[in-house]
Amino acid sequence: MLMTELNAESPKDFIRTIIAQDVEAKKFAGEVRTRFPPEPNGYLHIGHAKSMCLNFGVAEEFSGGLCNLRFDDTNPTKENVEYVESIQEDVRWLGFDWGNRLFYASDYFERLYDYAIFLIKQGQAYVDSLNADEMREHRGTLTEPGKNSPYRNRSVEENVDLFHRMRAGEFSDGTHVLRAKIDMASPNVNLRDPVLYRIRRVHHHRTGESWCIYPNYDFAHPLSDSMEGITHSLCTLEFEDHRPLYDWVLNACQVDRHSQQIEFARLNLTYTLLSKRKLLALVEEGHVTGWDDPRLPTLMGLRRRGYTPEAIRNFCEHIGVAKRDSTVEIGLLEHFIREDLNTRALRVMGVLRPLRLVIENYPEAQVEALSAVNNPEDPTMGTRTIHFSRVLYIEQEDFREDPPKKFFRLAPGQEVRLRYAYIIKCLSVVKDDTTGEIQEVRCTYDPETRSGGPQASRKVKGTLHWVSAAHAIQAEVRLYDHLFQVPDPGNDKEGKDYRDCLNPGSLERLPQCYVEPSLQQAKAGTHFQFERQGYFCIDRVDSSEEKLVFNRTVALRDSWSKIEKAK
Ligand code: ATP
Ligand code: MG
Repeated sequence: MLMTELNAESPKDFIRTIIAQDVEAKKFAGEVRTRFPPEPNGYLHIGHAKSMCLNFGVAEEFSGGLCNLRFDDTNPTKENVEYVESIQEDVRWLGFDWGNRLFYASDYFERLYDYAIFLIKQGQAYVDSLNADEMREHRGTLTEPGKNSPYRNRSVEENVDLFHRMRAGEFSDGTHVLRAKIDMASPNVNLRDPVLYRIRRVHHHRTGESWCIYPNYDFAHPLSDSMEGITHSLCTLEFEDHRPLYDWVLNACQVDRHSQQIEFARLNLTYTLLSKRKLLALVEEGHVTGWDDPRLPTLMGLRRRGYTPEAIRNFCEHIGVAKRDSTVEIGLLEHFIREDLNTRALRVMGVLRPLRLVIENYPEAQVEALSAVNNPEDPTMGTRTIHFSRVLYIEQEDFREDPPKKFFRLAPGQEVRLRYAYIIKCLSVVKDDTTGEIQEVRCTYDPETRSGGPQASRKVKGTLHWVSAAHAIQAEVRLYDHLFQVPDPGNDKEGKDYRDCLNPGSLERLPQCYVEPSLQQAKAGTHFQFERQGYFCIDRVDSSEEKLVFNRTVALRDSWSKIEKAK
């Protein structure tokens, strides 16, 4: 559980400031209570993590942990049980506990219906029978007021009767709606007699066929908050213009617990999308392999990619909450996962694009057991044994036959250290006669330079990772790049759809990598740093004992490619 100390003197954001003042002023009876209200129409993404960190965090800080998990399941056309289950799994994974406070807006359908009847009887709601087009015409525009519906003055008796019959299933979809009677001339379009109920003959994943009328968000949400005793209903900025309606509903229904809606800016991240609708389209149209595709910003995707809950929570804590919309660099998220994995990941060596290296003066049958450090940041993680022999694999990019200036890796006549082992010197290369492709690098080693040995201190400019060809095991490695080529794919400008901005190079599969044999026993969920290559984890879905599959969570910052790019 996230334990952030309550610091009443200087709350860390405007929301906590407001809540602290409300507590001080004893504005409500009982404790501060918040809720996280996902609609079960998709998987949670990192934007939801921001909302969870806020809602669960505030509850923890102000009242010791009472945050409700409420499924906002009032729109059955897009909702289903798969999402209800995955959302719970994700909330738990992120480290939050709702205890016995699991609620469903659909459990309130009967009470919501009663509230609707109450409004009708108060003369504050009516059944309208305009069709969709007519309703649109009557609504007016941002600059022109709307017009009253000819049905607006139906009697209370007629409205009660029609609404009963709507519920009883006497009318077909779209023939009638229940509307609040507020003000068709209001400058706030949300107050122009908003629809409260629609007729929809759809199966609901919890209530089945019991209902054929469903409440709208603007009606169900404030009342659900009130029924649960929510004191502060935290939502994103797009609901700011709905706040007068939120308050109208609670006042008109004469509830005794009036929650306060406070809006904050949603999280936007560069090079990705945080909209369930668009993410669903990417999944359904096959642009990604599923909701847990490691390129997606979903919590399932991030988890499969190797992100930890701690890194995500630290990121959310760092960005904080504000009132103004902004976009966060995806690099900042990457920074937080590097920080977290740096201290916990086991260092190993893995060669992604292998190049054979033969040490001519190393005895053919000889194998040496060398000691390698598991994590220099954490000595308690100990050491492990790695094997050195005459034939090794190194990274193709660590050798250049014709090296540019400042290339401190291997090249003919040049020396490098092999990590945990010896200094080697390149003698020659062996090439394929027809293609000219480099097949093998021939070297000699200096037996006096073994790491940890008497002359280990001899310095050379480059140190390379490697694996012993006879000992290494084969694995597939998946490298990921941004899902989109542009920083703002959600901003569909010039008719360009986000699908047109997908990055064709977002996934690179390397089927022929070699890793240390100790990784054969690795379990899903273990984090590794492949030295010089980045942080990796076993793919939870596709990896098996026969075929190891690793995902690169995030690359290390690579100084050489920066030099190269800067040229
Ligand atoms: P989407 O636009 O992805 O469909 P949503 O707001 O419709 O998101 P909900 O399931 O209704 O999704 O969201 C649950 C809660 O999470 C809401 O309180 C919502 O405001 C919040 N939330 C959703 N997206 C973000 C985001 N990008 N940043 C912060 N909070 C978010
Ligand atoms: Mg929503």
